[in-house]
Amino acid sequence: MPDEHPMSGSLFMVVAPSGAGKSTLVNALLAQEQTIKLSISYTTRPPRPGEQDGREYHFTTVEDFRARHKQGEFLEWAEVHTNYYGTSRLAIAEQMQSGTDVLLEIDWQGAQQVKKQFPHAVGIFILPPSIAALEERLKKRGQDEPQVITRRILAAGGEIAHAPEFEYVIINQEFASALSELTAIVKATRCRFSQQAVRNASLFAQLGIHANLS
Ligand code: GDP
Ligand code: ADP
Ligand code: 5GP
Repeated sequence: MPDEHPMSGSLFMVVAPSGAGKSTLVNALLAQEQTIKLSISYTTRPPRPGEQDGREYHFTTVEDFRARHKQGEFLEWAEVHTNYYGTSRLAIAEQMQSGTDVLLEIDWQGAQQVKKQFPHAVGIFILPPSIAALEERLKKRGQDEPQVITRRILAAGGEIAHAPEFEYVIINQEFASALSELTAIVKATRCRFSQQAVRNASLFAQLGIHANLS
C-alpha cells in the first residue's frame, strides 16, 4: 500500500532487545487503548509454554515461511536469533485502510524495511535500565532455555546500537512510567494534523480548514 495519501490509521513499531519488556508494555497499552490492533507475526520459532498459535504468533515451518515469502506475502521479514519472523502485508493493509491504528512488535531490521514503505510510521525503541536488568528479566521470565537466553543477551548490544534510528525512546525502568510514556506517544500521534484532518474531515470543512495534505 503506498504512503502517498494521508491515512486515518497510524502505524506504530515497537522495537527492543529481548527482555526489555516490549510485550508486557504493548499488552498493557492494548488493554487500555482498544482501538489499536496488534499485528500477529509469522515465526519459525517454536511456541513458548502458554503461547497459542494465532494469538502471540502464527507459528509455522521454515518451508511454509519461505513459500509465503515467495508469494510476496510479507511487508517485512528478518532472521532474528536464528529464527525467521515476518509481518503479513494483507492484515496490515486491511486494518489501516479501515482507519485502525496498527502496532508492530518487530526487530530493528524489520523496522527499517517498514519505514521505507511507510515513512510516517512511528518508531519507538524500548531500552532496559541496564544489561544486567535485561539478563535478570529474561531469567525471571523463565520461558527460554539457558542457551537461548545467552544468545539473546549477546545480541542485545547490537540491537541497542540501532536505537538512534528511532523517533522515540522509552527507558523501561519503572513500568508505570514507561507505560504512560508509551500511551503519550500514541495519543500525540493521533493528534497529528494529518490524522485529525482525515478523521474529522467534515468538521474541518465546516470550520473552513483547507488542509494541504501531501
Ligand atoms: P521477545 O524478545 O520476547 O519478544 O522474543 P520473540 O521470540 O517473541 O521475538 C524475538 C524478536 O523478533 C523480537 O525482537 C521481536 O520484536 C522480533 N519479531 C517478532 N515478530 C517479528 C516480525 O514480524 N518481524 C520482524 N522483523 N521481527 C519480529
Ligand atoms: P520482551 O517482549 O521485550 O522480550 P517481556 O515483555 O516478555 O519482554 O518482559 C520480560 C520480563 O520482564 C517479563 O517477565 C516482564 O514481566 C518483566 N518486566 C517488564 N517490564 C518490567 C519492569 N519495568 N520492571 C521489571 N520487570 C519488568
Ligand atoms: P531461499 O528460499 O533460497 O532460502 O531464499 C531465497 C532468498 O529469499 C534468500 O536470498 C533470502 O534473502 C530470502 N528469504 C526469504 N525468506 C527466507 C527464509 O525463510 N530463509 C532464507 N534463508 N531466506 C529467505
